[in-house]
Amino acid sequence: MDKLNLESLLRKNIQKLKPYQAKEIPCKIKLDANESPFPVKLSDFISEINIHLNRYPDPEAILLRKALARKVKLSHENIMPGNGSDELIYYLILTFGGPVLYPAPTFAMYGIIAQSVGVETVECSLDNNFDINDEEFLKLIKLKKPRLIFLSSPNNPTGNTFSTDKILKIIEFAQKNSSIVVIDEAYQPFSSKKGFLPFLKDYDNLLILRTLSKIGFAGLRLGYLIGEKNFLYEINKVRLPYNVDSITQYVATEALNRFYPQIKKFICQIIKERQRLYRELLRIQKIKVYPSEANFILLQIENSKSIYRKLIKAGILVRDLSSVINNALRITIGTSEENEEFLKTIRKILGET
Ligand code: PMP
Repeated sequence: MDKLNLESLLRKNIQKLKPYQAKEIPCKIKLDANESPFPVKLSDFISEINIHLNRYPDPEAILLRKALARKVKLSHENIMPGNGSDELIYYLILTFGGPVLYPAPTFAMYGIIAQSVGVETVECSLDNNFDINDEEFLKLIKLKKPRLIFLSSPNNPTGNTFSTDKILKIIEFAQKNSSIVVIDEAYQPFSSKKGFLPFLKDYDNLLILRTLSKIGFAGLRLGYLIGEKNFLYEINKVRLPYNVDSITQYVATEALNRFYPQIKKFICQIIKERQRLYRELLRIQKIKVYPSEANFILLQIENSKSIYRKLIKAGILVRDLSSVINNALRITIGTSEENEEFLKTIRKILGET
């Protein structure tokens, strides 16, 4: 029997694509995926869920959108929830197409989704401080006329925020060149800098992405896009019906309405631990550590791949970023005990006890 040549059936842009790497390596201490380390169990705050699973979810997710809108002091009409912000990135690219412009290195999904949809991607390298190279960026806007620009600030995987002045310059220049700017604020809750919500009213080409994934609810899969009604109306055309399931709608609404003080407490603890971990890492000679405004820290270390493997052997999983930044590892902030264990182990591996 002839064998199916699957490869030949693939669209050209899918042939070249590599799937998003989300490997599960079982380890005692998991510091690889920028999740919150504090366990949130459904039963901790919701004793009884009154959902009829025989019915479809609310297609408009009204209660959830209202709960999200209250947090950002806007109307629910300015909110579109999605199955993680990943889904909303997909919808944005599906709606507006490309070219899609973003700095490098940054969150991999902007590029992966653009390529899977078959639109052109344009990258602009960050400068030596991992800030935006604004002159180069403006040049690319003029030259490539991107439909969409993604700026993750704080940026994953570098951890810094981009300078506000540079972002504003880009938004203004993009507006003149009919480009949409999406500020991805996945890590904004951990940042000491102000986010871009206050600027939404000033720029009609600005959208903001947020997520519950980093603040304790990665398992729920809930991201949300914030923007003007006319934008959301258009994006709604490509949204799959019932993209946010009943359980997520219910649990996220309850969490936002009743559990928020606890969420905030966890965020404060993560920020404190990040500051402590940063100070401790600075004292290790063989490590170059970068300041962070997010819930992770980027560091560079000679032979990072071998160190990564030694950490796994010791039961600690971090993210190997050596294919993106030379000798780089990304460490998600864990509980104080987890961070302490990480520090003890890495000091031992490096012989700096
Ligand atoms: N944006 C950035 C910058 C991220 O780092 C991530 C997750 N790693 C996402 C978006 C996706 O988050 P979600 O879980 O909401 O899909």
